[in-house]
Amino acid sequence: MGVAERQEKLRSRMAVEGVDAVLVSNLTNVRYLTEFAGSNGYVFITKDATRFFTDGRYATQAAGMVKGAEVIISPSHGALVEELNRLTKTNKVARVGYEATHVTVASRGATWEPPPGLDKVMGYFEEAELVATQGWIEELRKVKDSDEIASIRAAAQMGDEGFAYILDRIKPGVREIDLALELEFHLRSMGSEGVSFDPIVAAAERSALPHARPSERVVERGRYLLLDFGCVVNGYCSDMTRTVVIGPVDDRHRQVYETVLASQMAGIEAAGPGVSGGDVDKVSRGVISKAGYPEAFMHGLGHGVGLDIHEAPSLKTGFADQLAPGHVITIEPGAYFEGWGGVRVEDLAVVTEDGLEVLSKAPKDLIVL
Ligand code: ZN
Ligand code: ZN
Repeated sequence: MGVAERQEKLRSRMAVEGVDAVLVSNLTNVRYLTEFAGSNGYVFITKDATRFFTDGRYATQAAGMVKGAEVIISPSHGALVEELNRLTKTNKVARVGYEATHVTVASRGATWEPPPGLDKVMGYFEEAELVATQGWIEELRKVKDSDEIASIRAAAQMGDEGFAYILDRIKPGVREIDLALELEFHLRSMGSEGVSFDPIVAAAERSALPHARPSERVVERGRYLLLDFGCVVNGYCSDMTRTVVIGPVDDRHRQVYETVLASQMAGIEAAGPGVSGGDVDKVSRGVISKAGYPEAFMHGLGHGVGLDIHEAPSLKTGFADQLAPGHVITIEPGAYFEGWGGVRVEDLAVVTEDGLEVLSKAPKDLIVL
């Protein structure tokens, strides 16, 4: 699905909602609609045209990068505002949608002087009515086409290779920050455009912190080490978590690990088209509850992955939205025990017509180093 098809889908939504144009300000959504990957850009989409606005710094890049839109370079915000107003008038745009999740309170017409930027733009639609929209483009982004899946698959594969690489470097006495740096260096040297988020490397008791930041804590014998990281290919993210033990391993390590792994496999088994994210979460969570420590799994089961590392759909208690073919999701249950350690196992997967294809191939049986 190229950008033209994406834009047409957005236009269908606009027609249903009775909106004549949408001003897209979220950069990820701008990228989704035009392939522009810079730091300043707006898309103004009407019934029959798509315009892309940026500033002079991107004149050359935008000309080569932007697809499916007329590129307009605005030397200043004033010029952008003027052009938007001219367009709303000449195209008889009565209602303009804006992305309510991605603009500030000030842009809603506060009594103080709005700060520069989009806020100013919003304030300058002289004749059109502003309509708050939420999640219209994010909804489209949930279903990935084959090119998007190919990018995510490549990113996941790099992650697998990165895990194999770093395994050899995990030794007692090595600091988390050094492993994180080595891992990132290796991922980037393989061609990853960056990391999809700062890698989590959590040793010993720090593995009980689901979102630990790498510290000077050293890897220790007889403890877990948790690694959660991802790559970026063509702007698309990957995400995976593995937890290993630096021997000697004891029964509790094995028991908690086996429980989390069984929970993860049950989630993979349960996920598929027509199943809600909430129901998949429930199945996985049930395995950990049955083991006797439901409170040890205190986060959602998973999330969508794409241009953003966290995007729709959500696999969490109470989420009724059904999974559908083309959704790319994570399945990542965990069990965390303060002061002792924690385990998380996370795979990236794509929902298919009849189930789930797991994209992460790194081994999941407990690795004892
Ligand atoms: Zn992760
Ligand atoms: Zn994740």
